[in-house]
Amino acid sequence: MDVYYKSRRFFLEGGSSLKPIIFCDFDGTITETDNIVSLMTQFVPEESEKIAKAMMEQTITFKDGLSAMFELLSAKQKDAVIHYLLDTAIIRKGFGDFVRFAQERQIPFYIVSGGVDFFIEPLLEKYGPFSGIYCNSADFSGQQIKLVFSNSCDEECAKFETQGCGCCKPSVMRKIAQSKHFKIVIGDSLSDFEAAKQADLVLARDHLIKRCKDLHLPFEPFETFYDCLEVVKKLMEADKAVSM
Ligand code: MG
Ligand code: ZN
Repeated sequence: MDVYYKSRRFFLEGGSSLKPIIFCDFDGTITETDNIVSLMTQFVPEESEKIAKAMMEQTITFKDGLSAMFELLSAKQKDAVIHYLLDTAIIRKGFGDFVRFAQERQIPFYIVSGGVDFFIEPLLEKYGPFSGIYCNSADFSGQQIKLVFSNSCDEECAKFETQGCGCCKPSVMRKIAQSKHFKIVIGDSLSDFEAAKQADLVLARDHLIKRCKDLHLPFEPFETFYDCLEVVKKLMEADKAVSM
Protein backbone atom coordinates (compact mmCIF):
# COMPACT_ATOMS: atom_id res chain seq x y z
CA MET A 1 0.00 0.00 0.00
CA ASP A 2 3.02 2.23 0.45
CA VAL A 3 3.41 2.91 -3.24
CA TYR A 4 -0.28 3.60 -3.63
CA TYR A 5 -0.19 6.30 -0.97
CA LYS A 6 2.82 7.89 -2.62
CA SER A 7 0.94 8.11 -5.91
CA ARG A 8 -2.18 9.36 -4.15
CA ARG A 9 -0.15 12.13 -2.59
CA PHE A 10 1.09 13.04 -6.04
CA PHE A 11 -2.50 13.12 -7.28
CA LEU A 12 -3.45 15.43 -4.40
CA GLU A 13 -0.52 17.77 -4.90
CA GLY A 14 -2.05 18.71 -8.23
CA GLY A 15 -5.28 19.36 -6.29
CA SER A 16 -8.50 19.22 -8.24
CA SER A 17 -6.64 20.27 -11.37
CA LEU A 18 -5.31 16.74 -12.03
CA LYS A 19 -7.74 14.55 -13.94
CA PRO A 20 -7.34 10.80 -14.21
CA ILE A 21 -6.93 9.34 -17.68
CA ILE A 22 -6.81 5.59 -18.31
CA PHE A 23 -4.66 3.70 -20.83
CA CYS A 24 -5.63 0.05 -20.77
CA ASP A 25 -3.99 -2.94 -22.47
CA PHE A 26 -6.23 -5.60 -24.04
CA ASP A 27 -4.62 -9.08 -24.19
CA GLY A 28 -4.11 -10.67 -20.79
CA THR A 29 -5.54 -7.54 -19.17
CA ILE A 30 -9.11 -7.04 -20.40
CA THR A 31 -9.18 -10.66 -21.54
CA GLU A 32 -8.00 -13.32 -19.10
CA THR A 33 -5.45 -14.75 -21.50
CA ASP A 34 -3.40 -13.43 -24.41
CA ASN A 35 -5.46 -13.86 -27.59
CA ILE A 36 -2.44 -13.92 -29.89
CA VAL A 37 -0.84 -16.70 -27.86
CA SER A 38 -4.06 -18.73 -27.84
CA LEU A 39 -4.54 -18.16 -31.58
CA MET A 40 -1.02 -19.30 -32.42
CA THR A 41 -1.21 -22.27 -30.06
CA GLN A 42 -4.43 -23.39 -31.74
CA PHE A 43 -3.48 -22.87 -35.41
CA VAL A 44 0.34 -22.91 -35.78
CA PRO A 45 1.83 -24.14 -32.48
CA GLU A 46 5.30 -25.31 -33.55
CA GLU A 47 6.20 -22.62 -36.06
CA SER A 48 4.98 -19.79 -33.82
CA GLU A 49 6.80 -21.03 -30.73
CA LYS A 50 10.20 -20.35 -32.30
CA ILE A 51 9.17 -16.79 -33.07
CA ALA A 52 7.73 -16.25 -29.60
CA LYS A 53 11.00 -17.41 -28.07
CA ALA A 54 13.01 -14.96 -30.19
CA MET A 55 10.63 -12.17 -29.15
CA MET A 56 11.06 -12.92 -25.46
CA GLU A 57 14.84 -13.09 -25.87
CA GLN A 58 14.59 -9.85 -27.85
CA THR A 59 16.68 -11.18 -30.74
CA ILE A 60 13.89 -9.86 -32.99
CA THR A 61 11.66 -6.84 -32.34
CA PHE A 62 8.15 -7.21 -31.02
CA LYS A 63 6.85 -5.80 -34.31
CA ASP A 64 8.79 -8.21 -36.56
CA GLY A 65 7.84 -11.16 -34.37
CA LEU A 66 4.17 -10.29 -34.52
CA SER A 67 4.28 -9.85 -38.30
CA ALA A 68 6.05 -13.20 -38.73
CA MET A 69 3.47 -14.97 -36.56
CA PHE A 70 0.46 -13.68 -38.49
CA GLU A 71 2.17 -14.49 -41.77
CA LEU A 72 1.95 -18.14 -40.72
CA LEU A 73 -1.81 -17.87 -41.14
CA SER A 74 -3.56 -18.01 -44.50
CA ALA A 75 -5.93 -15.12 -45.25
CA LYS A 76 -8.51 -17.84 -46.00
CA GLN A 77 -8.48 -18.71 -42.30
CA LYS A 78 -9.97 -15.31 -41.45
CA ASP A 79 -13.41 -16.54 -40.37
CA ALA A 80 -12.05 -19.55 -38.49
CA VAL A 81 -9.61 -17.31 -36.61
CA ILE A 82 -12.22 -14.70 -35.69
CA HIS A 83 -14.76 -17.27 -34.55
CA TYR A 84 -12.20 -19.14 -32.51
CA LEU A 85 -11.30 -15.99 -30.56
CA LEU A 86 -14.88 -14.78 -30.11
CA ASP A 87 -15.78 -18.23 -28.76
CA THR A 88 -12.83 -18.66 -26.42
CA ALA A 89 -11.80 -15.21 -25.13
CA ILE A 90 -12.99 -14.46 -21.60
CA ILE A 91 -13.42 -10.85 -20.46
CA ARG A 92 -11.95 -10.32 -16.99
CA LYS A 93 -14.45 -9.87 -14.13
CA GLY A 94 -15.61 -6.35 -13.37
CA PHE A 95 -14.60 -4.85 -16.71
CA GLY A 96 -18.13 -3.68 -17.58
CA ASP A 97 -18.61 -2.03 -14.17
CA PHE A 98 -15.20 -0.40 -14.35
CA VAL A 99 -15.92 1.06 -17.81
CA ARG A 100 -19.34 2.32 -16.65
CA PHE A 101 -17.74 3.98 -13.64
CA ALA A 102 -15.25 5.78 -15.90
CA GLN A 103 -18.05 6.84 -18.25
CA GLU A 104 -20.15 8.22 -15.37
CA ARG A 105 -17.22 10.16 -13.93
CA GLN A 106 -16.12 11.27 -17.40
CA ILE A 107 -12.70 9.73 -17.05
CA PRO A 108 -11.12 9.36 -20.52
CA PHE A 109 -10.63 5.65 -21.21
CA TYR A 110 -8.30 4.56 -23.99
CA ILE A 111 -7.59 1.01 -25.12
CA VAL A 112 -3.96 0.74 -26.28
CA SER A 113 -3.07 -2.72 -27.49
CA GLY A 114 -0.39 -4.59 -29.42
CA GLY A 115 -3.20 -6.87 -30.60
CA VAL A 116 -5.28 -6.68 -33.75
CA ASP A 117 -8.54 -4.86 -34.54
CA PHE A 118 -10.40 -7.88 -35.96
CA PHE A 119 -10.69 -9.51 -32.56
CA ILE A 120 -10.41 -6.47 -30.25
CA GLU A 121 -13.28 -4.49 -31.74
CA PRO A 122 -15.94 -7.23 -31.70
CA LEU A 123 -14.95 -8.33 -28.18
CA LEU A 124 -15.22 -4.76 -26.86
CA GLU A 125 -18.29 -3.72 -28.80
CA LYS A 126 -20.85 -4.08 -26.04
CA TYR A 127 -18.74 -2.18 -23.49
CA GLY A 128 -18.08 1.02 -25.44
CA PRO A 129 -17.96 3.73 -26.45
CA PHE A 130 -14.33 4.33 -25.46
CA SER A 131 -12.38 7.55 -25.86
CA GLY A 132 -10.26 5.69 -28.41
CA ILE A 133 -8.96 2.28 -29.43
CA TYR A 134 -5.33 2.16 -30.60
CA CYS A 135 -4.17 -1.17 -31.99
CA ASN A 136 -2.83 -2.86 -35.12
CA SER A 137 -5.00 -3.87 -38.04
CA ALA A 138 -4.95 -6.80 -40.42
CA ASP A 139 -4.98 -7.01 -44.19
CA PHE A 140 -6.63 -10.17 -45.53
CA SER A 141 -6.27 -9.29 -49.23
CA GLY A 142 -3.10 -11.35 -49.85
CA GLN A 143 -2.29 -15.04 -49.41
CA GLN A 144 -1.28 -14.71 -45.76
CA ILE A 145 -2.54 -12.39 -43.00
CA LYS A 146 -0.52 -9.18 -43.09
CA LEU A 147 -0.44 -6.87 -40.08
CA VAL A 148 -0.63 -3.13 -40.56
CA PHE A 149 1.05 -0.99 -37.90
CA SER A 150 -0.37 2.52 -37.81
CA ASN A 151 0.77 3.60 -34.33
CA SER A 152 4.48 4.06 -34.96
CA CYS A 153 7.28 4.93 -32.53
CA ASP A 154 7.85 8.68 -32.12
CA GLU A 155 11.36 10.14 -31.77
CA GLU A 156 11.22 9.93 -27.97
CA CYS A 157 10.71 6.16 -28.06
CA ALA A 158 13.89 4.17 -27.43
CA LYS A 159 12.90 1.95 -30.38
CA PHE A 160 12.43 4.81 -32.86
CA GLU A 161 15.32 3.56 -35.06
CA THR A 162 13.85 0.10 -35.61
CA GLN A 163 10.19 1.10 -35.11
CA GLY A 164 10.26 -2.04 -32.99
CA CYS A 165 7.19 -1.58 -30.78
CA GLY A 166 4.56 -2.31 -33.42
CA CYS A 167 1.82 -0.38 -31.67
CA CYS A 168 3.93 2.09 -29.66
CA LYS A 169 2.09 2.63 -26.38
CA PRO A 170 4.31 5.41 -24.96
CA SER A 171 4.00 7.33 -28.25
CA VAL A 172 0.20 7.06 -28.12
CA MET A 173 0.25 8.31 -24.52
CA ARG A 174 2.46 11.27 -25.39
CA LYS A 175 0.07 12.19 -28.18
CA ILE A 176 -3.05 12.10 -25.99
CA ALA A 177 -2.19 12.95 -22.38
CA GLN A 178 -1.88 16.56 -21.24
CA SER A 179 -0.15 18.06 -18.23
CA LYS A 180 -3.50 18.20 -16.35
CA HIS A 181 -3.76 14.42 -16.55
CA PHE A 182 -2.95 11.81 -13.92
CA LYS A 183 -1.97 8.89 -16.15
CA ILE A 184 -3.14 5.43 -15.10
CA VAL A 185 -1.69 2.54 -17.11
CA ILE A 186 -3.35 -0.88 -16.78
CA GLY A 187 -1.47 -3.89 -18.13
CA ASP A 188 0.18 -7.25 -17.66
CA SER A 189 3.23 -7.87 -19.79
CA LEU A 190 6.10 -7.01 -22.14
CA SER A 191 4.11 -4.64 -24.35
CA ASP A 192 3.30 -2.49 -21.28
CA PHE A 193 6.85 -2.06 -19.94
CA GLU A 194 7.56 1.24 -21.72
CA ALA A 195 4.06 2.63 -21.13
CA ALA A 196 4.41 1.91 -17.39
CA LYS A 197 7.43 4.22 -17.20
CA GLN A 198 5.23 7.10 -18.41
CA ALA A 199 2.48 6.41 -15.87
CA ASP A 200 1.68 8.24 -12.63
CA LEU A 201 0.15 5.00 -11.38
CA VAL A 202 0.32 1.49 -12.85
CA LEU A 203 -2.34 -1.13 -12.21
CA ALA A 204 -0.41 -4.30 -12.84
CA ARG A 205 -0.76 -8.04 -13.03
CA ASP A 206 1.55 -10.91 -14.02
CA HIS A 207 4.99 -9.95 -15.49
CA LEU A 208 4.29 -6.23 -15.14
CA ILE A 209 4.20 -6.50 -11.32
CA LYS A 210 7.80 -7.67 -11.19
CA ARG A 211 8.85 -5.04 -13.70
CA CYS A 212 7.23 -2.25 -11.62
CA LYS A 213 8.95 -3.58 -8.49
CA ASP A 214 12.35 -3.75 -10.23
CA LEU A 215 12.04 -0.19 -11.58
CA HIS A 216 10.38 1.21 -8.43
CA LEU A 217 7.37 2.44 -10.39
CA PRO A 218 4.23 3.40 -8.43
CA PHE A 219 1.87 0.46 -8.86
CA GLU A 220 -1.01 -1.51 -7.39
CA PRO A 221 -1.49 -5.18 -8.26
CA PHE A 222 -4.92 -6.28 -9.51
CA GLU A 223 -6.71 -9.50 -10.34
CA THR A 224 -10.17 -8.29 -11.38
CA PHE A 225 -11.40 -4.88 -12.57
CA TYR A 226 -13.20 -4.52 -9.24
CA ASP A 227 -9.68 -4.04 -7.78
CA CYS A 228 -9.02 -1.31 -10.38
CA LEU A 229 -12.37 0.30 -9.58
CA GLU A 230 -11.46 0.48 -5.88
CA VAL A 231 -8.13 2.18 -6.57
CA VAL A 232 -9.54 4.79 -8.95
CA LYS A 233 -12.51 5.44 -6.64
CA LYS A 234 -10.14 6.08 -3.73
CA LEU A 235 -8.12 8.52 -5.83
CA MET A 236 -11.27 10.40 -6.81
CA GLU A 237 -12.61 10.48 -3.24
CA ALA A 238 -9.33 11.81 -1.94
CA ASP A 239 -9.52 14.56 -4.55
CA LYS A 240 -13.08 15.47 -3.56
CA ALA A 241 -12.11 15.71 0.10
CA VAL A 242 -9.43 18.25 -0.78
CA SER A 243 -11.53 20.42 -3.07
CA MET A 244 -14.43 20.68 -0.54
MG1 MG B 1 -1.12 -7.76 -22.45
ZN1 ZN C 1 8.00 2.64 -29.61
